Amino acid sequence: MDTDEGVFDLVVVGGGISGLSAAYFYLRKHPGARILIIDNHDDFGGHAKRNEFAVDGKTIIGYGGSQSIDTPSSYSPEALALLQDIGIDLAVFYKAFDRGLYEGLGLEGGFWLDKDSFGIDRLVRGNPLYFGSGNESAEANQKFASEITHTDADRADMLKLLNDREDYLAGRTPAQKVAYLRTLSYDDYLQKDVGVGEYVIKLINPLTRSYWGIGTDGISACEGLRLGLPGFSGLGIDLERDDPWYRPEEEDPYIFHFPDGNAGISRLLVRKLIPGVTAGSTMLDVVEAKYDYSVLDLPDNPVRIRLNATVVQVQHNGDLATAQNVTVRYVKNDVAHQLRARYVVWAGFSAMIPYACPEFPQQQAAGFSRLVKVPLLYANVLIRNWQSFARLGVSSINFPGGLFSSASLDFPVNLGGYEFSHSPEEPIVIHMTYVPSMPGQGLDARTQNRLGRHEMLRLRFEDYERAIRSQLGDALGGGGFDPARDILAITVNRWPHGYAYEYNDLYDPPDWTRYNGPHIEARKPFGRIAIANSDAEAFAYVNGAIDAACRAINEIDSA
Ligand SMILES: Cc1cc2nc3c(=O)[nH]c(=O)nc-3n(C[C@H](O)[C@H](O)[C@H](O)COP(=O)(O)OP(=O)(O)OC[C@H]3O[C@@H](n4cnc5c(N)ncnc54)[C@H](O)[C@@H]3O)c2cc1C
Repeated sequence: MDTDEGVFDLVVVGGGISGLSAAYFYLRKHPGARILIIDNHDDFGGHAKRNEFAVDGKTIIGYGGSQSIDTPSSYSPEALALLQDIGIDLAVFYKAFDRGLYEGLGLEGGFWLDKDSFGIDRLVRGNPLYFGSGNESAEANQKFASEITHTDADRADMLKLLNDREDYLAGRTPAQKVAYLRTLSYDDYLQKDVGVGEYVIKLINPLTRSYWGIGTDGISACEGLRLGLPGFSGLGIDLERDDPWYRPEEEDPYIFHFPDGNAGISRLLVRKLIPGVTAGSTMLDVVEAKYDYSVLDLPDNPVRIRLNATVVQVQHNGDLATAQNVTVRYVKNDVAHQLRARYVVWAGFSAMIPYACPEFPQQQAAGFSRLVKVPLLYANVLIRNWQSFARLGVSSINFPGGLFSSASLDFPVNLGGYEFSHSPEEPIVIHMTYVPSMPGQGLDARTQNRLGRHEMLRLRFEDYERAIRSQLGDALGGGGFDPARDILAITVNRWPHGYAYEYNDLYDPPDWTRYNGPHIEARKPFGRIAIANSDAEAFAYVNGAIDAACRAINEIDSA
């Protein structure tokens, strides 16, 4: 059915941060343009998703996907200018994020060992293994090692890693060591070169899941070194000197967080694009602002957002080189519709382009088949109070044997009128992460991503709820936590197509990066269609999504 809406100047497929940013950049260059953003979800923002809970007359806000503005000092000038223009002042977060709250209460990270996986049920405080957090005193290492293991051999393995002084690759030059470390996984390095047994590897494996979307069987030992995992201190490697592919990263504090995560960005973008959607004008008042979804797609809006609509085909009207517009076909409420646009930005998943755009040059498509998105799931669990965490002295718990690999008290952020849960007597959201992965089966990252996606979709809400109740009940029971009494609500956010695939030097050539790889050729515009989305940058961050949008609009304008 033709929608009879005339020819839009721009149609954007996908209303995530990249699609919203594409509309933003186009509108800036072409004020007054008619733009339509189409997304299959019932909300805008894509991964940047807000969760809300009601308790005792108060709304508690959580993030269901994209978490924080990570390392903004590495953002491009265009991305920083966009954040500023929609009202984000990064300096505000230094005050809003209460960095001392949990530490001030004596809380720290910890591990829950479950009997089925580790032969014992035990909560262990501390996490000297995590991303360069080592360098504890010998006594602290001894204490951690004795608590987290229960055989002499495993304790010796753990101490070897924590004290970490040996050169396990003696006889090689530092550059040869780096080259070797790129050839095997971190788990294999621990096993073959460091001589660590299965128990300790099982403890460590999940530590990289929420960051890389895969355990330490799926990253190279070299990446383990870059991340600051233990086992390398005695090798005499200086990454800047010895690793030709090492790119030091900027270091900002991890504090740039709205209570609803990066949904704060998508909501500010939508307020900029469709001013009537909500009141207010600052990054403070947006936190609690109510949005009127009934105005998103009004015919008089220069920019419109059409939700619950899946684009199934995008095709030029006539020859690719000379066509004046493009037909976009989508399905909404089981009805097929079509409309026309002068230009289209595809800001959905790149891997779908060859299927949805029949004219797409097939030789380009090979690059997209390598971009297998990472599945991951964020569950938000509202609990009556966090006294059990306070009694046990933990603010976050790793579950190396659990379906969920971690549970953390929410980030302590007060923004605008929104107040974080300051005291253990108050309700709070616990954030839990599940990354389906299959260690120990010799599967590469892409295969684990594909199979993991099926597993995540196979499991039902009841399966997740059961795991949440039993993991929290087991780990926090010693602090008086009772799942039946203390869990008030659970929201499960499944992201079968989560993080954009980032090249991984265990499986991909070391010179493939965000700036060099087959995705660069694959994402070239064809005819009147340009390609955005963070996966077209092979970079799983907000700035990847914004930069992709900026590039796509520049490509349209220079066509
Ligand atoms: C759980 C999680 C946590 C993250 N945490 C962070 C973080 O802390 N910091 C950070 O910088 N980045 C983070 N990211 C990365 C995040 O993906 C990016 O920050 C950014 O939000 C991606 O935006 P995007 O628009 O490229 O893609 P998406 O957010 O995936 O948006 C694409 C949209 O297009 C829609 N779509 C696809 N195909 C179609 C179609 N055919 N028709 C209609 N609509 C379609 C999709 O459903 C989706 O809504 C996280 C990602 C996930 C999944």
